[in-house]
Amino acid sequence: MELPFAESWKIKMVEPLRMSTREERELWLREAHYNVFQLKAEQVYIDLLTDSGTGAMSDRQWSAMMLGDESYAGATSFFKLESTVRRIMGMDYVMPTHQGRAAENVLFSLLVKEGDVVPGNAHFDTTKGHIEGRKAHAIDVTTDDAKDTQKEVPFKGNVSLEKLEKVLSENKGRVPFMVLTVTNNTVGGQPVSMANIHATCELCHRYDVPVVMDSARFAENAYFIKMREPGFADKSIKEIVLEMYRDADAATMSAKKDAIVNMGGFIATRRKEWYEGAKLFCIPFEGYVTYGGLNGRDMNAIAVGLDENTEFDMLDTRIRQVQRLAAMLDEYGIPYQRPAGGHAIFVDADRVLTHVPKEEFPAQTLTCELYLEAGIRACEIGYMLADRDPETHENRFGGLDMLRLAIPRRVYTDNHLAVVAAALKNVYDRREQITRGVAIEWEAPLMRHFTVQLRRL
Ligand SMILES: *Cc1c(COP(=O)(O)O)cnc(C)c1O
Repeated sequence: MELPFAESWKIKMVEPLRMSTREERELWLREAHYNVFQLKAEQVYIDLLTDSGTGAMSDRQWSAMMLGDESYAGATSFFKLESTVRRIMGMDYVMPTHQGRAAENVLFSLLVKEGDVVPGNAHFDTTKGHIEGRKAHAIDVTTDDAKDTQKEVPFKGNVSLEKLEKVLSENKGRVPFMVLTVTNNTVGGQPVSMANIHATCELCHRYDVPVVMDSARFAENAYFIKMREPGFADKSIKEIVLEMYRDADAATMSAKKDAIVNMGGFIATRRKEWYEGAKLFCIPFEGYVTYGGLNGRDMNAIAVGLDENTEFDMLDTRIRQVQRLAAMLDEYGIPYQRPAGGHAIFVDADRVLTHVPKEEFPAQTLTCELYLEAGIRACEIGYMLADRDPETHENRFGGLDMLRLAIPRRVYTDNHLAVVAAALKNVYDRREQITRGVAIEWEAPLMRHFTVQLRRL
């Protein structure tokens, strides 16, 4: 008999969970203004809000923390991080920041000016915020494949080269860089192929436009290249990663994702002038350039995490678990962005709550229903997250409206995910009765989803 698949690690430390009653959840959600970001974590049973900073560190990472060098300048911990990033991504200049958005803030402060145009394959919300906050335009150039959640293609995160070329040719002199996000979080944790990465860099460089890789899930992207793209099956994840970055000019990294730490990030670049320029923003906003808002121990943990999570077994364990959750949803007929993404399942809320009008935010409504059903916290990646158009101030209903079930790394077992699937099925079974959604009572002008206050209709 062939031995079944099993995790490539075992569990050394556990944290108790508590299930609540439906009555408690009704009260808590009302107090949270129907926004799950406003819940207290202890009011949540299974927390799939995000895979960001929620992973379980390994024994090696914890032991590396004990060796943290907390010197203000030139700490050994910085040099460990720097040499690891150089080895894994192949870029020489490394600047730590306190998380991914801080890396964006520092680099974009240097590069983005009012009126600029920054194309990208579905900018992440903070990335878009940092561009639009500087009165520049973020233009999505993702392939149209990503818009049809039921279409099965291996690299749904790809850049549409036609769309990109149109933006580049129509905005000459106004494009400071292009953002290539791997994996493409916003359209469902979907990977970008190596061929598309190379073609995108080649096209940008032909227009003299540098490429910044938004790298939060670069290792998961490399896994998909190995599993799905012809010619890569026999390459190691580390070889694939080096090739992914071969032509990139810089990377912004949220270490809270693929470096499996609770907090941290960095900028890496091969452009000395960007590194020198970014220092002027790192020092006042983040801290001196050899710590950038991080403790020495945290830089040690990032270095170990980057190494561990660019090994095949670690990624195989993780992504197969996400795929097992997808298989359960298949069994129940629940529609999601196909195929399953690397870090999450994106349930197609428009196809589940078909009676809730767009204007009443179906995916946001589904997050509330799932929480009420079983205390499971998911996240809306849809019309609420899309914010209003900065010019017209209208809601943006043009994209997808999804409920994201993000799976923290090395945290929940398959049994937890079976509870998630069953709870979602219960909501799905009563979808015909759900005819009204939510209305906005208060919202922030930018990145409103974190703090928005809602009313149930
Ligand atoms: C999380 C994320 C960021 C921002 O990183 P933080 O560490 O949350 O600030 C940027 N881009 C992508 C694709 C992300 O997933």
